Amino acid sequence: MAADTPGAAGSRRPRTVACPQCGATVEWRPENRFRPFCSERCRLIDLGAWATEDYRVPEHVKPMDESGE
Ligand SMILES: [Zn+2]
Repeated sequence: MAADTPGAAGSRRPRTVACPQCGATVEWRPENRFRPFCSERCRLIDLGAWATEDYRVPEHVKPMDESGE
């Protein structure tokens, strides 16, 4: 049996992932510091979403007490 692997086609392609934020195809490269996001914007949006989720502070709306003359 000859060890001829039936075409390893496509193994040279750069690995790509889908941006969790907008779904754009992102090349997973070391130079892409925003991975798995496509851009800094998407990364910030995602981080912001998490922060918001974590930062769910109850709305403490104090009645404005302006009884000081
Ligand atoms: Zn994106």
